[in-house]
Amino acid sequence: MGILAGCKQKAEQTTYGPVTADDIKSHIAVLANDSLMGRKPFTAGETKAISYISSEFKKLGVAPGNNGSYFQDVPMVQVTGTPSATMEISGKTHISLKKTEDFVVFSRHEDANIQLKDAPMVFAGYGIVAPEYHWNDYAGLDVKGKVVVVLVNDPGFKSGDKTLFKGDTMTYYGRWTYKFEEAARQGAAGLLIVHQTEPASYGWSVIKTSNTGPKLYLQAADKYKSRALVEGWITDSAAHQIFTAAGITGDIRAIARKRDFKAIPLGMNLTVGLSNSLKYSMSHNVIAMIKGTDKPDETIIYTAHWDHLGIGAPVKGDSIYNGAVDNASGVASLLAIAKAYTASADKPKRSIVFLAVTSEEQGLLGSEYYATHPVFPLAKTVANLNMDALGFYGPTKDLSITGKGQNDLDDYVAAEAAKFNLELKGDDRPGAGSYYRSDHFNFAKVGVPALDLNNGTNSIEHGEEWGKAKKKDYNDNNYHQPSDNYSADMDCTGMAEVANVMYNIGVKLADETTFPGWKAGSEFKALRK
Ligand SMILES: [Zn+2]
Repeated sequence: MGILAGCKQKAEQTTYGPVTADDIKSHIAVLANDSLMGRKPFTAGETKAISYISSEFKKLGVAPGNNGSYFQDVPMVQVTGTPSATMEISGKTHISLKKTEDFVVFSRHEDANIQLKDAPMVFAGYGIVAPEYHWNDYAGLDVKGKVVVVLVNDPGFKSGDKTLFKGDTMTYYGRWTYKFEEAARQGAAGLLIVHQTEPASYGWSVIKTSNTGPKLYLQAADKYKSRALVEGWITDSAAHQIFTAAGITGDIRAIARKRDFKAIPLGMNLTVGLSNSLKYSMSHNVIAMIKGTDKPDETIIYTAHWDHLGIGAPVKGDSIYNGAVDNASGVASLLAIAKAYTASADKPKRSIVFLAVTSEEQGLLGSEYYATHPVFPLAKTVANLNMDALGFYGPTKDLSITGKGQNDLDDYVAAEAAKFNLELKGDDRPGAGSYYRSDHFNFAKVGVPALDLNNGTNSIEHGEEWGKAKKKDYNDNNYHQPSDNYSADMDCTGMAEVANVMYNIGVKLADETTFPGWKAGSEFKALRK
């Protein structure tokens, strides 16, 4: 980073607000350092990460947010599943699938030995029950004792029909988390999702890295006995073998998209097992707060997840998944925003809460725990402002709202965009279901209007094509890979742009007396009283 670049950063700072790129960058340098070992929950990396974050809040004079403590305990269970080497499928023909290469399986059941033996298989389309769309893939189907095979995403994706679900925009029904939840409600013994890169929006490598090794869950009273015994994914080519053997040919997504589609028994039985080793542990959310001067019981909650994937399979000789962008950038911005609040002469009328959550990468667990065990009453939580994996390619002429159109916070972003002459966009990949993929979603699930904001791709310096190429390169080569590293030439000015807009919105919300709401048609509107 040369002197000129430094000057340029200064110019950007004064443009958008008081949060500085230099502050963000200095925090990323610490959080994404190899000594934090990829910030995996329960490791020494967690201890280092949360003590750094809490000590930075303390240095700034931002008070502990949980009744005198900077920490909220998050009780979790770590399940390390070791699947059998193969998955055997018998029918008219025999198919043997190889672990990791063709399938991943896991089980939430808190049992040492998990075994599915000769379980009948059935193809249930997209695995969706959505009354508002008059859609039920499980209609007339008894899945007890059976393994259900379903497709990722929802029927709308690439259907060419904008009225089918939300067209190319993924609804929650398209998310894998939903599919496992629905299979549990139906009482299935197993659920396998067919991985296809385009509708999933990520490659098989992401499925592999996220599903091999220990998995974390919040501790549950029923020890997850209500979940399907075996959950997992199979590759597109493994699914192709199975469907072909069952006599199903042609475009499987088109077949399942038909209005008159009915679940198809595959005439095959599946055998797979795994051994689970269990470890009960406590992870931690970090909470800090600035007490409001007028209405301290009303809160605006900023969130960013501090965790990442830890140490894993080496890629090109690097085994530390540092997560510099995902999500040291968000936590760094959280700290830089906190500093801006403390430096301001105007104190917020409502309270400002900074919540760095654990275990986002393991299924949004820290934010789920907070949303179900809130420190501040949800009814008086004005808004959640979330930052995850902010733009690393400099300032952009556009801002991107994840899941644009959900709630009134969009209007606050629009006002900021107008002020700085920025273009306002929705997700650049609406099919990826990003609104359900970070911590704001757990606030949405309990009715709190939640905003997840990021840079667009129209680089001020290099234009739209360049920005798009940068983002694509990250998604293809660095997302959830050891190469998501900090480097001295990392450009944090785009992150500062977003952080400043989030700061400005928080300041505005803190001085108002009204509560933003959900837009008509949002699936979360009914949840807010
Ligand atoms: Zn991530």
